[in-house]
Amino acid sequence: MRIDAISIFADYFQALDLSLLGKAQASGILDFKAHDLRDYTHDKHKTVDDTPYGGGAGMLMKPEPWGEAFDDILSDDLNQTDDRPVIIFTSPAGEVFKQATAHELAQRKHLVFACGRYEGIDQRVVEYAATKGEVRLISIGDYVLNGGEVAAIAMIEAIARLVPGVIGNAESLIEESHSDGLLEYPSYTKPSVWRGLEVPPVLLSGNHAAIAKWRHDQQVERTRQVRPDLLDE
Ligand code: SAM
Repeated sequence: MRIDAISIFADYFQALDLSLLGKAQASGILDFKAHDLRDYTHDKHKTVDDTPYGGGAGMLMKPEPWGEAFDDILSDDLNQTDDRPVIIFTSPAGEVFKQATAHELAQRKHLVFACGRYEGIDQRVVEYAATKGEVRLISIGDYVLNGGEVAAIAMIEAIARLVPGVIGNAESLIEESHSDGLLEYPSYTKPSVWRGLEVPPVLLSGNHAAIAKWRHDQQVERTRQVRPDLLDE
């Protein structure tokens, strides 16, 4: 899978060189590149922002550097008709990212994350991007960050770990929170008693049916208490 990220703070993405995603890059399963938007400017100050038409607080990202960045990064995709690239604008005004979104995007060959700063990006950039690929505006939650980098990193990690070969033990993906619409059950490791706190006896019983039932009951109860909205979906 190929993933590109465009940002004025490309160094943020060094986090993806670590751990399992770093290994996935080293083995070639994941081809990731962060691009500095300022490389697509032509003035002395490498300007990427300007005042908004109609007034209002703050600055907006100018369209020209974005256009050049997309032309460059998506030039290899031009002849591909089978699987168009997906261009994801990180935005608090977008659809909310869920595990189902991660599964959907993990099936695609090429993702491009556009990370806004300031008050966001000139809307024409979104329209232009739609001529180059499938556009999605995606939020990681109902709050506002200073920029899209942290949001993009969160999404890239959630997506890439679903790509076959990225996680050694693929079975661990099956029983996770959100995989079946419920939160994960509580888990315990050795020792069986720690500081007077005991592991639930059923987990030591060796009775697999009883363990499965206990875990499912815990999932339902935890979801009911913490995220009742998931039970309505
Ligand atoms: N003025 C924008 C609004 O009200 O929708 C917020 C701009 S925010 C300060 C700057 C950038 O951070 C956004 O363009 C977006 O790329 C990113 N961002 C902020 N919150 C986000 C969120 N919850 N999910 C994804 N990206 C977010």
